[in-house]
Amino acid sequence: MLEKIVIANRGEIALRILRACRELGIKTVAVHSDADRDLKHVRLADESVCIGPASSLESYLNIPAIISAAEVTDAMGIHPGYGFLSENADFAERVEQSGFVFIGPKAETIRIMGDKVAAIKSMQATGVPCVPGSDGPLGDDPDTNMRLAREIGYPIIIKAAGGGGGRGMRVVHSEATLLNAISLTKTEAGTAFNNDIVYMEKYLENPRHVEFQVLADEHGNAIHLGERDCSMQRRHQKVIEEAPAPGITEEQRKRIGERVAEACRKIGYRGAGTFEFLYENGEFYFIEMNTRVQVEHPVTEMITGIDIVKEQLLIASGNPLRFKQEDVHITGHAIECRINAEDPENFLPSPGLIKQYHAPGGPGIRVDSHIYNGYTVPPYYDSLIGKLIAHGENRDVAMARIRTALTEIVIDGIKTNVPLHQEIMRDSAFMEGGTNIHYLEKKLGL
Ligand code: ADP
Repeated sequence: MLEKIVIANRGEIALRILRACRELGIKTVAVHSDADRDLKHVRLADESVCIGPASSLESYLNIPAIISAAEVTDAMGIHPGYGFLSENADFAERVEQSGFVFIGPKAETIRIMGDKVAAIKSMQATGVPCVPGSDGPLGDDPDTNMRLAREIGYPIIIKAAGGGGGRGMRVVHSEATLLNAISLTKTEAGTAFNNDIVYMEKYLENPRHVEFQVLADEHGNAIHLGERDCSMQRRHQKVIEEAPAPGITEEQRKRIGERVAEACRKIGYRGAGTFEFLYENGEFYFIEMNTRVQVEHPVTEMITGIDIVKEQLLIASGNPLRFKQEDVHITGHAIECRINAEDPENFLPSPGLIKQYHAPGGPGIRVDSHIYNGYTVPPYYDSLIGKLIAHGENRDVAMARIRTALTEIVIDGIKTNVPLHQEIMRDSAFMEGGTNIHYLEKKLGL
C-alpha cells in the first residue's frame, strides 16, 4: 500500500485527495506555490513543500520541483488531480522513472488519449461508437478532402489532433469554405499545440454531453459507474453536471457501459477515467477520453456510493478492483453546481478576500470546497472555489435540495456565480431535463 503521497494540485481537489488519504491512512505532502500557503489542505497535510512562485508555470507545472518534493519527503506516489500535469504523459513518465507511483494510467495510455486521432483509432478498434469522420489525419489533396466532406455530409468540423480545452476546432457549413478552414485550423494548431495534424468529423448540431465513468486495475479488471450529463456549458466549460443523465435508459447504460469497460480491458487502462460522448437522437458518439479524475466525479459517487478517489489510491497501490459490475447500483439522482469566483453578469474573475462564508447543509447535501472565513482567493488560478452537490431519491428531490442549498450558501466579499445557478435551477427546460450543449449560452444570449 502507498504509505505517503504528494498531492500535486491545489484548491478543492487537493483537499478532496487529502480526505481520501486520511481515510486510507496514507500520509500526505502538500506542494504549493508562494501564493497558496494558506490553502486549507496545506494546513491540514502532514507535510508541505513550497515548490515555486505564484505562476503555475513555475510551480504546479514545474516537473523537477514536484519530483524533488517527493524525493525530499520520501513519498511513494504522486497524485496529479485534474488540470495542471494530470494529462501530461511526459510527467507521468518522469514520475515513474524517478521511482514513484503515478496515480493514474500508464504514460503510454495518456499519450494515446492526448492525441485525438490516435484515441479515436484505438476506440474504433475496441468497438466504441465514434463520430463519422475522416478516420485519420487529413492530407494535402484538396479533391480528397472535398470528397471526404461530401461523404460525411455538411456541416462538418475540422479538429486539431493535439487540441484541448475547446480550442483548435472549426465548423464548416459548405464546400466553399472547406479548404480555407482546413488550412487555417492547421496553421493555428501548429502554433498552439506544436502539432499541425487535423482531422474531420460530422458536426452534430444539437447534441448533449454524456460521459461514462470507469475504474480499471492493472490486473485486467474494469467496470463502469454509469453516466453523467454535462450539457450545461459555457464556452465548452461545464457549469452543472448530473447523474444519471435524464432519459438515458438502463439498456443504453448497460450497452455503452459494457463497451467502455471492455475498451479499458483491451487497452490495458489503469485507474479512473472518463469516456466523453456527444449524444444525439438516441446515439452515442465518442469524442475523447479523460485519463484522470474529473471535477464532476462527486455526482457519480453520490449515486453509486463508490469513492472514486479512494479507488484511485487503492488501484495505484496495486490492489485488484474491489467491485464487480454487478456490485454497482445506481440509487437516486445527484446534481452538482460549480461555484466560481466570478461576476455572474460578465463572467470576469472575482478574486479577493472572503469575509464571510456559510456552507449549506441538510439531507443529501455535500460541499467540496477549500474556502473558509478570511481566505483570500488568489488571482493566478482557475476561478473554481468549490462544488455544491445534492443527492435525492429522484431528480426532483435532488433539484429541490440544491435549490434550498443555493439560498443558504453565503460567500461574502467576492462575486460568485451562485445567482446564475439559482436561475438555472428555476429554468423550466432544465427542470424538465435533457437540454443540449448550446442551451445555456442561448439562454444567456451569448
Ligand atoms: P476538447 O479536448 O478541446 O475539450 P472535445 O473533442 O472534447 O475537445 O470537444 C469539445 C467540445 O466541442 C464538445 O464538448 C462539443 O461541444 C464540441 N464538439 C466537438 N466535436 C464535435 C462534433 N463532432 N460535433 C459537434 N460538436 C462538437
